[in-house]
Amino acid sequence: MGVGEAVIFLGPPGAGKGTQAARLSAELGFKKLSTGDILRDNVARGTPLGRQVKPIMDRGDLVPDELILALIREELAERVIFDGFPRTLPQAEALDRLLEETGTRLLGVVLVDVPEEELVRRMLKRAELEGRSDDNEETIRRRLEVYREKTEPLIQYYEKKGVLQRVDGLGTPDEVYARIRAALGI
Ligand code: ADP
Repeated sequence: MGVGEAVIFLGPPGAGKGTQAARLSAELGFKKLSTGDILRDNVARGTPLGRQVKPIMDRGDLVPDELILALIREELAERVIFDGFPRTLPQAEALDRLLEETGTRLLGVVLVDVPEEELVRRMLKRAELEGRSDDNEETIRRRLEVYREKTEPLIQYYEKKGVLQRVDGLGTPDEVYARIRAALGI
């Protein structure tokens, strides 16, 4: 029997998952496992994986499940917050198996809810501040489309399991953070 614990952050691109996941992981002593950050780090270092995924990410498409699952297996920790993973049903099913194999308890799945106009506004602002190469208007539109098609079905998937916690993602980061802690009861 393992003693692990996990939290999943779900939500559209630009919802603020990364910011909230970082704070929660720092305060609770969980490892933040962000597939987007890991991939961007590989792109920046020019690794073989980075060279493979850069064109995919720049288009706003999803990196193949097998690559993502290999990354996750490598980075798994006893107490972990998943940010940006799972993003497809096969990823969610694979994660279920992994949690079971490792005896890890899912504390909850936080859905950070933000209306679409606000998402686009935030990502365009981030483009100015951080210069992420996938934060241009065309790629943003594509990422939202991919989210609706591939990731949104996970809402129902986790709702059925009774683990989904919807949190309003509008307001200050502090307000959203307080809602998340209350929703998770931690
Ligand atoms: P955001 O949440 O702002 O869209 P992320 O940093 O989570 O951005 O992801 C950026 C890009 O990295 C995605 O558009 C996708 O190409 C790739 N990516 C990240 N996580 C995954 C994943 N779990 N499965 C497939 N592709 C992923």
